[in-house]
Amino acid sequence: LAYLAAKTLDEALAAVSDPEVSVIAGGTDWYPARGDRPLPGNILDISRLSDLRGIEKTTTGWRIGATTRWSDLYKLELPAAFDGLILCAREVGSIQIQNAATILGNLCNASPAADGVPPLLALNAQIEIRGKGSHRVVALSDFIKGVRQTDLQPGELATAILIPDPNPNTRSSFLKLGARKYLVISIAMVAANLRLSDGKIAEVAIAVGACSLVAQRLSALEKDLIGLSPENVTADIITATHLAPLTPIEDVRGTPEYRLASVKTLIERVLRAAT
Ligand SMILES: Cc1cc2nc3c(=O)[nH]c(=O)nc-3n(C[C@H](O)[C@H](O)[C@H](O)COP(=O)(O)OP(=O)(O)OC[C@H]3O[C@@H](n4cnc5c(N)ncnc54)[C@H](O)[C@@H]3O)c2cc1C
Repeated sequence: LAYLAAKTLDEALAAVSDPEVSVIAGGTDWYPARGDRPLPGNILDISRLSDLRGIEKTTTGWRIGATTRWSDLYKLELPAAFDGLILCAREVGSIQIQNAATILGNLCNASPAADGVPPLLALNAQIEIRGKGSHRVVALSDFIKGVRQTDLQPGELATAILIPDPNPNTRSSFLKLGARKYLVISIAMVAANLRLSDGKIAEVAIAVGACSLVAQRLSALEKDLIGLSPENVTADIITATHLAPLTPIEDVRGTPEYRLASVKTLIERVLRAAT
């Protein structure tokens, strides 16, 4: 094996059992991350695993296969709870990137600024992982362990994103703050899924990215928003305790203070957008 474009999952799992093998899907994170370093000896390209491409309804929810591209999301009628993920897809890089890059590659790359993580955390996504003769499922919140660190063990491939059936009344949105509109690394992004009952928030999930090593759900805020009307949720009712899971860094894109202030405004706006 020097470069193998696997055609079947069995072929891919046999190849990945060699710990020296590098896996690429769309390659849009993997190639730029190599910089000037020479290519490694053995590359397994999974992008042609057509059985793993697509989004399908299962008895318990939805399954997004490992080789599903961002732009595949636009081809189906999905429940309104997916609107945040679709808005996110439209802002990942450019159309060329959306056509080549996989949704699951975005999660496996485990960048703090991966735009796909907040909307999928808000959808309570899980990751299906397979090895030769093994199969397991982990919550996305446990799958990404740190910067560029996932729960994947040697010999394993992530094979699908699993999303439990959302309530048909769940609405969703996603907002990304960058220094310009497209082709930009997020300063902060927020995804929200919510269900109203009599105009009041009955269920809500809020996830924030690019403000901690791993994107975070804001569970204390989610709890405090139950029973409120979305139009009464303004940036000023969001406290430091609500944002405690966030540990934003200072970099060329912004200061920690700017990021936290932005997150409050994004939450106010994303909840309105979702309703
Ligand atoms: C110009 C440009 C703009 C971009 N803009 C954005 C943006 O706006 N927002 C954003 O979030 N990202 C952006 N990206 C990053 C990238 O496009 C996305 O993260 C994309 O979804 C990665 O998917 P991929 O299939 O190309 O992953 P790859 O590069 O193929 O893989 C990424 C990593 O995950 C591993 N991997 C991939 N699939 C699997 C699997 N099934 N099992 C195990 N390991 C796997 C690979 O080994 C590699 O380490 C941009 C990249 C470029 C080049």
